[in-house]
Amino acid sequence: MFEQFDLDDKLVAATKSAGYKKPTSIQELVLPEAMAGKDVLASAPTGTGKTAAFLLPCLQHLLDYPRTKPGFPRVLILAPTRELATQIFEQAEQLSEFTSIKSGLITGGVNYGSHKEILTSTTDVLIATPGRLLEYIETEQFDAREIEILILDEADRMLDMGFADNINRIAGEARWRKQTFLLSATLAGAGIIRFSKDILNEPVFLESHPSRKEKAKTHQWIHLADSKEHKIELLLNILRQEDVKRAVVFANKRETVQFLAGKLQSSDLANVWLEGEMPQDKRNNAVARVKNNKANILVATDLAARGLDIDEITHVINFDMPRKADIYVHRIGRTGRAGKKGTAISLVEAHDMTSLGKIERFIDERLRRRVIDELRPKHKEAKVPTKKAKSKVKVKKNAGLSPKQKAAKKAKKAKKAAKKK
Ligand code: AMP
Repeated sequence: MFEQFDLDDKLVAATKSAGYKKPTSIQELVLPEAMAGKDVLASAPTGTGKTAAFLLPCLQHLLDYPRTKPGFPRVLILAPTRELATQIFEQAEQLSEFTSIKSGLITGGVNYGSHKEILTSTTDVLIATPGRLLEYIETEQFDAREIEILILDEADRMLDMGFADNINRIAGEARWRKQTFLLSATLAGAGIIRFSKDILNEPVFLESHPSRKEKAKTHQWIHLADSKEHKIELLLNILRQEDVKRAVVFANKRETVQFLAGKLQSSDLANVWLEGEMPQDKRNNAVARVKNNKANILVATDLAARGLDIDEITHVINFDMPRKADIYVHRIGRTGRAGKKGTAISLVEAHDMTSLGKIERFIDERLRRRVIDELRPKHKEAKVPTKKAKSKVKVKKNAGLSPKQKAAKKAKKAKKAAKKK
């Protein structure tokens, strides 16, 4: 129940009118800390109710301390993309429905004139993408010094898109603020924590464990594969399914990306590919082809996909399994955005089982095994090597020693044991 928090009746009524029955786990974690005035560093995947988790405390703050004179925004929310910023704006409007709080939206990709009203009249909550907002700060059309609460949403994605400098500068401008929240799909990986050090002040770390239902937005499963050739067959089959409207295929090596792109092309699957060292105009052209629906498949490595801003990705396919679990979370976070259903499919060979084990432990979920009837794997699922099995390998290594070496080893061991006594 939203009544459990110290929220104004108008806000509780808005949650009801929005159809929220009870708080989600991230909301239960974030609301009390945020309303106590603390800085928050939270892991919160999309689709788990994270937006309301930070909006409600902000709105409550604005109600507790009403504005005494007109002026610039008091709450600033930075988001990586226009799409996400728009979603946040819509939720802000919804949740402030019964109040007089005014929200505004500033993003790139729209003409400058349309922001005039926000910049010249009083707005309380501003949702913005960093690039365009910084332009307004630099041309002195916007003053960030009245910001009391700063929120960085999907901070990992913003860093990924190269916004670190912009954010630092905006945070510098908003230096009189009282409170800062940073939300990220995952807190794993050193980048976010390091970045947050300068921006947050003694934050509480909150890691949400969304329930199965809450994270059900992205359907994940794996196909076991016997070989690379088998993976290619699986990939072609998956990409030909009707519900694949826009897919990103991840491979671990640049050569694999190029190979797959060719393979898909010769199978009549229109695709573009990206590699890390591509000239910017070529890269822009490739991305534009996906955005304009000239091609619905993009093949890339993790590095090449950095900063990629393409919406409405229905499928993420791991042709190669990532070796690290946080990379997996990052990859699949590209689908299932904005409350839409997403699908993440991984092709897993025997040698990927250790990585798979790591990923399953990390996301605390066993990924469903699925088969495509005509492409069933011939081999059974390989067992993940356990510690015991590893020590066996060690014994075997010793077995390769000569009798003389063995004797020397034995003597050394006996000497050590005698010393201990
Ligand atoms: P988000 O993770 O913020 O993108 O939210 C995903 C969706 O869940 C949005 O459409 C919200 O309106 C909705 N939502 C947020 N909080 C709740 C809640 N407590 N109960 C039901 N739906 C919610």
